[in-house]
Amino acid sequence: GPRVGVLALQGDFREHARVLAGLGARVALVRRAAELAEVDGLVIPGGESSVIDKLARTFGLAEPLIAAIRDGMPVYGTCAGLIMLADTVLDASPGQRSFGGLDIVVRRNAFGSQNQSFETELAVPELGEPPVRAAFIRGPVVESLGPRATPLAALADGRVVAVRQGALLGTSFHPEITGEHRFHEYFLGMVGAR
Ligand code: GLN
Repeated sequence: GPRVGVLALQGDFREHARVLAGLGARVALVRRAAELAEVDGLVIPGGESSVIDKLARTFGLAEPLIAAIRDGMPVYGTCAGLIMLADTVLDASPGQRSFGGLDIVVRRNAFGSQNQSFETELAVPELGEPPVRAAFIRGPVVESLGPRATPLAALADGRVVAVRQGALLGTSFHPEITGEHRFHEYFLGMVGAR
């Protein structure tokens, strides 16, 4: 089967690795370019996007990853990972960059501070029933989407929190911590289809 990497520079990469392994995927933690070259798809976890950005550049991983994204490698980003996949990031830290690839504008920390974290039921037509139990922890919101990006889910107020564009998938929230495995399953399907 395909080999799926989890970017393991910072954040909750272990939770993603556990979910993917539970779904039967061959999982590898990715910290260097040589490890990236060995995988067929990559999950970028939640954490702190400015730190992931800095470490990716320090480890020489940013350029190869940007190239792999351009090349069509399937990548799923959750929360900070979604920020890393966005072409445009609002409220970024000074000097913060993203890998890009998703034709979207995201705003960091759009739901306020850590203690304003919340969970909600989210309808995701692409995943069917039941709705997704979604945990938001200082997550970003997708403020606008270009013509190539498709919204997969929105909050009741209309704010987009899940998006797909070709081989790229992103969610503002953390399915890996609520026992929700369908996004990972869906992503493994994207990896297998390539
Ligand atoms: N606020 C974080 C950031 O800007 C994201 C939070 C998360 O990944 N849970 O990167």
